[in-house]
Amino acid sequence: MIKKRNTLQKQIVFETFSDLHNHPSAGMVLEAVREKYPGISQATVYRLLAEAAEEGEILRLQLQGTADRYDVTLKPHRHIVCRLCGAVADVDLQWDAQAVLACTTAHEGFTVEDCHIEFSGICSQCSRNQVSN
Ligand SMILES: [Zn+2]
Ligand SMILES: [Zn+2]
Repeated sequence: MIKKRNTLQKQIVFETFSDLHNHPSAGMVLEAVREKYPGISQATVYRLLAEAAEEGEILRLQLQGTADRYDVTLKPHRHIVCRLCGAVADVDLQWDAQAVLACTTAHEGFTVEDCHIEFSGICSQCSRNQVSN
């Protein structure tokens, strides 16, 4: 019985999440879910998102200057964060991972395992606001 209710809540949370397309934080998902289902608890939404990220169903992004965000796109890609409003967008960066690894592997005896590239800037909405001010 409890399991069934959880499944329905999970369906609601993920349908809402996949409609957002804006790399939402847990708080943003909660807000959108509550527009349709005001009774759903914050703990439930946050837990379902965290569990889905742990199971690899969605990506959890830890970006500079903003709360953790969730991403429906699982293939490797980069992000740009607006330093004014925290908007997050995808960056399809073509890069030669082997070349990057080759030039970093020799450093200080480290074995390189991972590398994060993240962009920051000002989104189009904030640029427009700046011009009109
Ligand atoms: Zn912005
Ligand atoms: Zn993304």
